[in-house]
Amino acid sequence: MRQHQVIIVGGGLAGMRAAQKAQEMGADVAMISKIYPTRSHSAAAQGGVQAAVSPDDSWESHAYDTVKGSDYLGDQDAIEILCSEAPDDIYALERMGVIFNRTDDGTIDARAFGGTSVKRTCYVADQTGQVLLHVMWEQLLKSGLTLYSEWFVTRLLVEDGRIAGCVALEIPTGRIEVFRAKAIVLATGGIGQVYNPTTNGLVVTADGQALAYAAGATLMDMESVQHHPTTMKANGVLITEGARGEGAFLLNANGERFMEKYAPNMKELASRDVVSRAETLEIREGRGIDGCVLLDLRHLGRDLIMSKLSQIVELARDYANTNILEAPVPIRPGHHYIMGGIKTDVDGRTWDVSGQGRWRGVEGLFAAGECANVSVHGGNRLGGNSLLDTIVFGRRSGAGATEYANGSDWAPTSEDALLADQEAAVKAIFDRPSDGLRASHVRLEMGTAMDDGIAVFRNEEGMQATLTRVRELKKDYGRVSVHNRGRVFNTDLLSVLELGYMLDVAEVIAVSALNRRESRGAHAREDYPERNDEEYLKHTIVHRGADGDPVLDFLPVTMTRWQPQERTY
Ligand SMILES: Cc1cc2nc3c(=O)[nH]c(=O)nc-3n(C[C@H](O)[C@H](O)[C@H](O)COP(=O)(O)OP(=O)(O)OC[C@H]3O[C@@H](n4cnc5c(N)ncnc54)[C@H](O)[C@@H]3O)c2cc1C
Repeated sequence: MRQHQVIIVGGGLAGMRAAQKAQEMGADVAMISKIYPTRSHSAAAQGGVQAAVSPDDSWESHAYDTVKGSDYLGDQDAIEILCSEAPDDIYALERMGVIFNRTDDGTIDARAFGGTSVKRTCYVADQTGQVLLHVMWEQLLKSGLTLYSEWFVTRLLVEDGRIAGCVALEIPTGRIEVFRAKAIVLATGGIGQVYNPTTNGLVVTADGQALAYAAGATLMDMESVQHHPTTMKANGVLITEGARGEGAFLLNANGERFMEKYAPNMKELASRDVVSRAETLEIREGRGIDGCVLLDLRHLGRDLIMSKLSQIVELARDYANTNILEAPVPIRPGHHYIMGGIKTDVDGRTWDVSGQGRWRGVEGLFAAGECANVSVHGGNRLGGNSLLDTIVFGRRSGAGATEYANGSDWAPTSEDALLADQEAAVKAIFDRPSDGLRASHVRLEMGTAMDDGIAVFRNEEGMQATLTRVRELKKDYGRVSVHNRGRVFNTDLLSVLELGYMLDVAEVIAVSALNRRESRGAHAREDYPERNDEEYLKHTIVHRGADGDPVLDFLPVTMTRWQPQERTY
């Protein structure tokens, strides 16, 4: 049995930052990742990372924009930490070697992003995530981090409400092993593939959320799913908000800059939920072109586009057959991000240390990054705040996990029984008749149902239809089979396991969305079009009941200094 004080599951930005901090504090730490860390979805982030580094800006202003962007569902204590600690984290990244774009006087440059009152998004051309990830990985290689790459975590081990370790499958060999740990940090990323289409990579399959849920942790605000305003029709690939940040226009079929009507002040740079709704209305009302509106960059000029947005020139050429230097590119809203996730406090703990039992969790289990919900994004995330979330709360959860591990004993684990159990679970999948359902088929059905019912606009009937479909698919799951019964690199088997995770999470999203009978942030209901602070200024929380069904409850939102106001841009 392998054993490490602190195990980090996930090699994206949140996982790397947590590992870095835990190492710095002297922990025996290991990282487990189902893909080589630098291939994590964090590498796809183009636009940038928010931080008030300019002398003309303040973290309080950043915090206010974030609270407003969240439609007042974000916890303000966590948002204050996110924004006040951001500048130091940016400088720390710079010292590690991140070459942020600079102004002529040599200070870190910032670009405009949606929903922010000043230019605050630090960036490296349109490759910010890639650069952050590679620089951080260099640091971890240098420090000799123990890495289990291409190991797939299949289960968290809990003894008496405390984390004891996890079980993982080594993908190249198919070997299953038990890992003992005093603390585990989940940093497994988002839920992208629960939706079809999505901007997220194929590996983004809600594993961490589902593992935590199965282990007894709480998922919070799972109805808060974000659709990004500029994705390509062919395959959902993202065009960064940096394009609008640099001044690109949104046009309808009549050539009108329609955002002037919906957000007279911020126009294209209103927050994402607002822009996605405006686009959807334009398309619905007949002013779209083949289900899209247009993103026009031509007036920005070749020099600016080629120096700051060159990646999207390639993406638009490859996936929309469009030369953005000469023509507008058709785009539409598409699934992008989940604000909801595993409920944590500001140190990444998934359990309630107040002693009041306000939510259920697992002692010793931490979470950070997109899989977590420390509640800095609330009902709608501002662009650039997710990378920041991974950096600030990745660091804090790495510290939290190390402190916890230093002060606790090893929980007992029974290796043989666990291994037998996991082997039996894999065998059960192998034993299904090979003419059963295919995981890819069920996944597409789920993704389509989610996109039909729980997207930019929602209503009772549509969400109920999605929930019903997801529950049917959950029943079908027992018949999903594999063609490949070998142990070596069996991606067929992995896709069945991932599908199981995604179905559980899809159900929680649908149940949570049906339960919020108001419109807030990305959760825009046609049947309840107004925000209703009196009844719904609270978080939706869900844990798994004894019968396996989701059990709903609410938690109050933490307010420090900003009272809810009407949200206009
Ligand atoms: C196209 C795109 C562009 C974006 N642009 C921006 C932007 O400009 N600014 C911004 O702030 N945000 C942006 N975002 C959002 C942001 O990039 C993500 O929210 C963030 O990078 C998530 O980081 P993470 O570390 O939580 O997860 P990820 O980077 O997704 O990493 C997850 C890790 O978990 C591992 N893992 C998952 N399941 C398992 C398992 N079962 N066993 C073992 N390992 C597992 C994976 O191997 C991976 O290493 C963008 C997102 C996308 C999709």
